[in-house]
Amino acid sequence: MQQDNEPQNPGDEAPPDAPGVGEDTCPACKGTGKVEGAQCTVCGGTGKVLQGIGGG
Ligand SMILES: [Zn+2]
Repeated sequence: MQQDNEPQNPGDEAPPDAPGVGEDTCPACKGTGKVEGAQCTVCGGTGKVLQGIGGG
């Protein structure tokens, strides 16, 4: 069995195919994908992070 259910980026809280997970603007780069001219390491340059929207 492969363990392929890990988040893609450090800022992601869950894998993109997990239930109850939605995209949100990356708080580190404000959705620009870059921080001080460098690729954002939190979202991996996507400007978005995956956050669990279920539970509470
Ligand atoms: Zn970011």
